[in-house]
Amino acid sequence: MTPVEALERVVHCLDRAHESGFKTKAFVRALDVARATPADELAERAAAGTLTDLEGIGDSSATVIQQALAGGTVAYLTELEGKTQVPLTDAGAVYRQALKGDLHLHSRWSDGGATIEAMARTAIALGHEYMVLTDHSPRLTVAHGLSVERLEQQLADVATLNHQLAPFRILTGIEVDILEDGTLDHGDDMLSRLDLVIASVHSKLRMAGKEMTERMVRAVANPHVDVLGHCTGRMIGKRDPSSFDPDYVFAACAHFHTAVEINCRPERLDPPRDLLKMAIDYGCWFSIDSDAHSTGQLEWQPLGCNRAAEVGVPLDRVINTFTADRLLAWTRGDDGDDGAE
Ligand SMILES: [Zn+2]
Ligand SMILES: [Zn+2]
Repeated sequence: MTPVEALERVVHCLDRAHESGFKTKAFVRALDVARATPADELAERAAAGTLTDLEGIGDSSATVIQQALAGGTVAYLTELEGKTQVPLTDAGAVYRQALKGDLHLHSRWSDGGATIEAMARTAIALGHEYMVLTDHSPRLTVAHGLSVERLEQQLADVATLNHQLAPFRILTGIEVDILEDGTLDHGDDMLSRLDLVIASVHSKLRMAGKEMTERMVRAVANPHVDVLGHCTGRMIGKRDPSSFDPDYVFAACAHFHTAVEINCRPERLDPPRDLLKMAIDYGCWFSIDSDAHSTGQLEWQPLGCNRAAEVGVPLDRVINTFTADRLLAWTRGDDGDDGAE
């Protein structure tokens, strides 16, 4: 393991444990420095004990680099590998094993921390056959949402990567903002070119329930929309769920063939259990998505799997248990249960 690989893995483990504090920032910084420093200089400094003279390398990261260069175990990494495992129940494991992909994740193109390729390589290591790249849409300026022009560039990059990573597939997509009136933050032309569209509310989360219901139903009914992202918008302990009438919204999801996302981010875990049970009763489809913004966060799907198992989400209604081809058929309106599996 090279020093860069060791530091990447440290950051990955801290991310999957949702550690975003000083320690993580310090390792991210050290990783940048290690990447920018020639390998022989790192080795010389490790031998001379002068790694910490490099701006951004502290005692902890210097030790990781030294131990990686020595070729033995990196003690801190071994410790992290053990204590940052994402919990998976026995019942949740049935769902996790059935998942073939992840439908919601971000790259550096919007507000993610990793390249598309790094996300894809991690998804491959996690056993996925595909992933859908869903960066943000332009209205979400704080997250560097993608304009039509940038999305065009991204589609070209994805096509190149798909050649390199085959048989793994990066499907194209977007997490498009649901605007205040329920229209979407990209036009039909763009949305119709993407493999999969997630629609999410990110603004005016506190609007009156009646208006929010109409807004969400309008988005869910849009023929381009395949998945309704983190439907309540809650942040556990920080932001209450939006108010809307879930009967209308879930009935619309079932009717218009839009899956209800089970968002796995630990601070979201959205929808809450009671709403998830309602969505099951309406016969909705589901997707269990990490909404990862870094490689480590791709490991969060077990959190949604545990919950899906707990409330009894029918496994055959989870669209990311499908193969990529069946998923694509499903987005075109074909339920795909014609023996394709
Ligand atoms: Zn979102
Ligand atoms: Zn997202």
